[in-house]
Amino acid sequence: MLPRIHRLENNLVNRIAAGEVVERPASALKELVENSIDAHATKIIVELIDGGIKLIKIIDNGYGIHKDDLELAVDRHTTSKLEKEDDLYSIATLGFRGEGLASIASISDFTLSSKIKDAEYGYKISSNYGILSQIMPTPMNNGTVIEVRNIYHTIPARKKFLKAETTEYGHCKSIFERLALSNPQINFELKHNQKEILNLKEQSLLLRIQSLFGDSYTKSFFEVLENQANGLSLSGYLYHPSYLESNKTVQQFYINGRFVRDKVIQNAIKQGFSGVLHHEHQPCYILFLEINPGDIDINVHPTKNEVRFKDSGQIHGFISGVVKKYLSNNSFATTSENNSLFTNSILSKEIDRSTTKIAISPKKDYKNQYQLVDNTKFTKNWLNRDVLSEDKKVLITPEIFINSKNVDNHSDQLILLGCAIGQLNGVYILSQVKDGLIIVDIHAAHERILLEQLKEDWINNNIFSQSLLLPISMHISDELQEVVINNIELIKKFGFELELQNGLELVIKSIPALLGKEDIEKLILDTINEMSKYGNTNKIVQHYEYVLSAMACHGAIKANHQLSVEEMNSLLRDMEGTSRASYCNHGRPTWFKITMNELNGMFMRGK
Ligand code: ADP
Ligand code: MG
Repeated sequence: MLPRIHRLENNLVNRIAAGEVVERPASALKELVENSIDAHATKIIVELIDGGIKLIKIIDNGYGIHKDDLELAVDRHTTSKLEKEDDLYSIATLGFRGEGLASIASISDFTLSSKIKDAEYGYKISSNYGILSQIMPTPMNNGTVIEVRNIYHTIPARKKFLKAETTEYGHCKSIFERLALSNPQINFELKHNQKEILNLKEQSLLLRIQSLFGDSYTKSFFEVLENQANGLSLSGYLYHPSYLESNKTVQQFYINGRFVRDKVIQNAIKQGFSGVLHHEHQPCYILFLEINPGDIDINVHPTKNEVRFKDSGQIHGFISGVVKKYLSNNSFATTSENNSLFTNSILSKEIDRSTTKIAISPKKDYKNQYQLVDNTKFTKNWLNRDVLSEDKKVLITPEIFINSKNVDNHSDQLILLGCAIGQLNGVYILSQVKDGLIIVDIHAAHERILLEQLKEDWINNNIFSQSLLLPISMHISDELQEVVINNIELIKKFGFELELQNGLELVIKSIPALLGKEDIEKLILDTINEMSKYGNTNKIVQHYEYVLSAMACHGAIKANHQLSVEEMNSLLRDMEGTSRASYCNHGRPTWFKITMNELNGMFMRGK
C-alpha cells in the first residue's frame, strides 16, 4: 500500500523539538533562565527538587508576559525576540527560536504565571504534557514564575535516559554557574531540595568568580582586556593551573554573552598556553569574546551552544595571540583582603589604567646584546658565563631597581621578586618581599631565562657561539652522525660549530656562549637527539623552539650549584625582565609566594 503523507499533530512536533532542546532537566533550566535574562530580570531564583527531575521552578522579576500572549508563549515558533530574517544577523537576546517553552510544556507538568508591571493580577496557564488549561488570574509579584514538574514522566522512551538525581543535579548546577557567571549584575539564588546552595548578590565579575569557584581564583590571575578596531574584543581571566589550589578545571568561554563550546576556540586557547603548561595540566580560563553578530552564525544547533564563524582563521589567530600575549606579560594580579584589585607581582610590563596596575619596564634589551660581535670583548657575567664586555651587566639591588624605575604613586604596592636572603638546599632561592617570602626554583627559572634569550637571538639570526679553548671530541651513533652531516649549517645557526673527523669522531669547536660549559657532551647529545626527532632541515627549523628548549634545559644551572647573594639577586632581576618567567620550559611554575598573612596564620599570630 502506498504510504500517504499527513501533517504531524502539534504536540508530537513539539516533542520532537524537545528531543533536541530539552535533553535533560539542566537543558530546561537553561532555556528558562535565559528567558528570564532576556526579560531583563535583576533577580532570578532557581529551585530544584531531586536534581530537577521532580521540579524546576524559576522565579524572576523581569518584564513579564501580557495575559493575551500567554497561550502564544507556549506555542511553537512564537517569539517576541525576532521579526524578520535580517534580525537573525543581529541577535542580541539569548533566545530567538521560539521553541523553548513549547518544548518544555510538551514533556512536563508545566505552569507559567506572569504579571506585567501595570496589571492588577498575574495570569497563569498550565500544560499537562502538551494539553493546555484555561488562563486564570493569580495573585503574584511583577515578573514570571515557571514550574516544570516530572519532566518526561509520561514518556518512558525518554525518561529512561535520565540519570541519577545527583548527576542531573550536577548538570543543573553547572548550567546555573555558566549563566550566573556571564551575568554578575543579576542576583541569583539556587536551592536544591529546599536547601539554599548559592545566594549571589549583584557583584563584579571577579567576585562572582570567587563566589562560584572559590578564593584561589582571585589569588593569581591574568586579566585580559583586548579590543581590536574591527569590533573583536576579548576580556576576562586566565589562570595558570600551578597557581590554583582547587583542582577543578574551569573552562568557560562566552561569545556575545552566550556560553559556547567550540573546537576552533579550544584549540586557539590551547595554542596560546603552549610552552607554559605542564602536560598534565589543562588551561583554565573565563573569557568573553565580543564579535559583530553578522560575523558568526549561532543558529547551528537548537541548543545554541555551537557557532560558525565567518572567518575562523582570524578568530583563531586573534584568540591564541591574545592568550599568549597576556600569559607572557607575567603580570599576575590578585585581590587584597578587602577585595580591591591591585597588582601582586612586579612582573608587569604594561598597565591597564582602568584598574590600579603599576607600570614598570624591566625588560632588558637582550636583542642587541651580541650585535657587535668580536671574540675578544668577553667578560664573565654573574653566572660565570661569557657576555660582551660592553654589555657588562651591573648587579642591581632591588632598592636600586625600584628607585630607577618610573613607578607611579602605587609604588608601595610594588612587589618585586624581592631581595635574596639565601639558598635552600642548593635548589631554591629564598627571597624577601615586603609582604612575605618568595621561593624560586633556580634551575626552572634559569631555564626559562635562557630559553627566552635563545629564542630572541634565534629570531634575530644571532645566537652567538664561542670557541672552546680545547676542542672536545666524542663518539656518536651513526644515526646522529647523519643528522650532523645533513644539518651542519643549521647547527651553526643554533650556535654550535661541529666537525666530523675521519667520519668517526665528532669534534666540538664552539658552543653557544650563553650556555654553561659543564658536561658539553651531554648538551650536544641532547641537542642532536632533539633534532633527530624531526627528520629534515625544514622540519627542524619548524620545531626550533623544541631544540632551543633542549639546549636551555641542559644549559641551566643544576641543583647544588652554590650561588652568592649577588648572583641570586641577578637571577631574580633577570626573571623580572623575561617573558613567561613564571613557568619553566615544561610548564612547571618557577616561583611561589608565601604571604606574611599566611605565615601569621600558620603561627596563629594575632589569634
Ligand atoms: P524564545 O526565547 O526563543 O523567544 P521561548 O519559547 O523560550 O522562545 O519563549 C517564548 C516567548 O515567551 C519569548 O519570546 C518571550 O516573549 C516570552 N517569555 C518566555 N519566558 C519569559 C520570561 N521569563 N519573562 C518574560 N517573557 C518570557
Ligand atoms: Mg527562550
